[in-house]
Amino acid sequence: MTDTIHGRESLVRLLEGILAMPGVTVYAPVAEGDGAAFDRVLSASEALLDSSGAVRPPRQILAPMTETLLAMEPGGSAVDSVPAPEPTILFGARPCDARAIVFLDRVYAGGDRIDPYYAARREALTILSIGCREPRATCFCTSTRGGPLSVEGSDILLEPSGEGWIVRIITERGASLVGRAGLGSSDGRVTDPAAFPQAGAPRDLSALRGRLEQAFDDPRWEALTAKCLGCGACTFLCPSCHCFDIVDAEEDGRIVRSRIWDSCQFKTFTRQASGHDPRPTGADRYRHRLMHKFSYCLESYGMPGCVGCGRCVEACPVNLDIRLLLDAFGGER
Ligand code: SF4
Ligand code: SF4
Repeated sequence: MTDTIHGRESLVRLLEGILAMPGVTVYAPVAEGDGAAFDRVLSASEALLDSSGAVRPPRQILAPMTETLLAMEPGGSAVDSVPAPEPTILFGARPCDARAIVFLDRVYAGGDRIDPYYAARREALTILSIGCREPRATCFCTSTRGGPLSVEGSDILLEPSGEGWIVRIITERGASLVGRAGLGSSDGRVTDPAAFPQAGAPRDLSALRGRLEQAFDDPRWEALTAKCLGCGACTFLCPSCHCFDIVDAEEDGRIVRSRIWDSCQFKTFTRQASGHDPRPTGADRYRHRLMHKFSYCLESYGMPGCVGCGRCVEACPVNLDIRLLLDAFGGER
């Protein structure tokens, strides 16, 4: 038994040990085009354990981009497609990714009505996160109440320490995985977060929210968001965005109801059957995205809808940086 993982080879052996467990599905960062994405891995060699972040976040493990909700044969009754996944391990999540799953839990399963499709996948999931040794220039998790060593949402956190990692068990589910993987725990030994690089300056999110609400009719929205193309890349790569559409279609003689990711940045997102659109301009749509994440979500879910992962900053084809908009409308004035 050990409480520290010494170097990359030991990390690979840990992943190999987890992959050897019977009846588990493992997701980890893998190469995808010029970047990376969380995807299912069958061997440790597929995983990008040195990646400082995956471009595509892990949310599709819990809420796939397209999923069948139910199907109906002609003359028959609807049969729903609630999944029954085998135990699933998310290996190598970033702390912001784990925190985004806490947010998604509140959206899909935090109220009176629980989404059974999400809940079934979530119940099967164990999250092993790796703390960020060197946050990227676009990261600002510290500004959203998180941080490179945040444990929120993780069952296990591997805290960078020297060339290796200290194993921190956060939940009983994490303890169970650590036991099965033959690891020990840190026995309470943790890194001092203050001695660790932060990602962005801490922000008073309550004050930020108040300022954003005051700035709702600020004429600068138009000019500051004018270059937005409405492509939706920022929303599709966001670990906490969750808008979807429901579509019924005929497939092989059956009627299939599917849930498909949607984006509040698309022009047609709020267009009504009458033709009226309550958010007709790009500025209206971008303002909604910012207000939703830093005002409405704080009220509805008790946390911001942004974990500061920086993916939208990196992915935007016209370099529209959410941090600059937060400074412009939510900064000290
Ligand atoms: S990625 Fe950039 S251009 Fe595309 S919708 Fe988002 S803010 Fe607009
Ligand atoms: S809004 Fe941008 S920085 Fe915030 S969680 Fe989504 S992708 Fe990451």
